[in-house]
Amino acid sequence: MKLQKPKGTQDILPQESLRWQYVEQFARETFQKYHYGEIRTPMFEHYEVISRSVGDSTDIVTKEMYDFYDKGERHITLRPEGTAPVVRSYVENKLFAPEVQKPVKVFYVGSMFRYERPQAGRLREFHQLGAECFGSSNPATDVETMAMAYQLFRDLGIKDVTLHLNSLGNSASRAAYRQALIDYLTPMKEKLSKDSQRRLEENPLRVLDSKEKEDKAAVENAPSILDYLDQESQEHFEAVKEMLETLKIPYVIDTNMVRGLDYYNHTIFEFITKIDRSELTICAGGRYDGLVDYFGGPETPGFGFGLGLERLLLILDKQGIDLPVDRSLDVYVAVLGEAANAPALEIVQALRQQGFSAERDYLNRKLKAQFKSADAFQAKLLLTLGESEVATGQAKLKNNQTREEISVSLEDLKKDFQAIAANLF
Ligand code: ATP
Ligand code: MG
Repeated sequence: MKLQKPKGTQDILPQESLRWQYVEQFARETFQKYHYGEIRTPMFEHYEVISRSVGDSTDIVTKEMYDFYDKGERHITLRPEGTAPVVRSYVENKLFAPEVQKPVKVFYVGSMFRYERPQAGRLREFHQLGAECFGSSNPATDVETMAMAYQLFRDLGIKDVTLHLNSLGNSASRAAYRQALIDYLTPMKEKLSKDSQRRLEENPLRVLDSKEKEDKAAVENAPSILDYLDQESQEHFEAVKEMLETLKIPYVIDTNMVRGLDYYNHTIFEFITKIDRSELTICAGGRYDGLVDYFGGPETPGFGFGLGLERLLLILDKQGIDLPVDRSLDVYVAVLGEAANAPALEIVQALRQQGFSAERDYLNRKLKAQFKSADAFQAKLLLTLGESEVATGQAKLKNNQTREEISVSLEDLKKDFQAIAANLF
């Protein structure tokens, strides 16, 4: 029997989850500045929602899906990414309807599942923050969305993230490039990894995305997709680059970047950073103008990204960025003797109901141990309650930092703690 967590998963304990909450809240506030609203879709979807939209020959679909048949014989998969489910939801809820303001901008936060080999920054259940924008083919949308991720990194204090940019062009450009790539790779087919030999047949652009050494070497001198962009695609890409420059967002062009999902066209991008000298992508996305149409909606341009929260927190940690999370407690009540037990409970409840955070001793411990707890909890104020305090209705309230102390009436404290505490804060 296995009574441990499944491989590639993580328990996030309270100390650590404060960091998660902080980053999530920070991201929510950043995204709201860009007028994004939160969307919550199911954690599992029909297999077909993911399989063809993400791409039949992608690693995600061929190797990494957590799929199963449920008791009703439905082919279900835990979601491996956020875009396909959100597009499914966009179409199903008819957000394309004229009465819904365009563009539609939504973000999500949640678990994603991929059957991968676990390693640093790579899990089987991981968390993504993502954003999707529907209904604008304006290159300003591409740039605004990348700028939103950029602002999130910058405002969190992360250094050394580089924006890698490429364009896949429209489908005509892509078809022309696909042929050029087949012509280039076919003579060296034997040198490619087994997977890439298959990719060459099924979806040659995938070879560019391979992480195998032999494939990386083979594609080093591959033709550049940028040489195959038609005029429309070129103009879009030029506009994106110009606007990035206007906003002073630095970028590098990376012509071998194709992204791990099939639905992209035109702009694609990744934000990459270095951790312990190896490169790690924190955030990746791009334009997907055909996806709404694929799900049975009207032709609708789309742009979005997914951002790995584990990787974001890892980078914050590695770069020594302390998040200003508040672990403090307003009041700790030290309890001495049986007679103080029930009154102590009444007091912490009264404090909590007045909006303060409060904790007390439950274990009948010596005062010294209780004071240690107050320190460990970073209690701002300390109230000591023993038999005589209960009898007289008066107790000592101490500022746990300055050690300044006042005598307070327990009745007053229950009625208006704000007024009393103001004297000590
Ligand atoms: P990679 O090339 O690293 O496998 P990917 O192309 O599969 O990434 P996307 O599908 O674009 O990644 O997902 C967007 C982001 O989600 C990634 O940039 C990364 O931050 C995060 N991510 C993807 N897979 C995992 C995973 N298994 N564990 C943790 N984070 C992940
Ligand atoms: Mg991957």
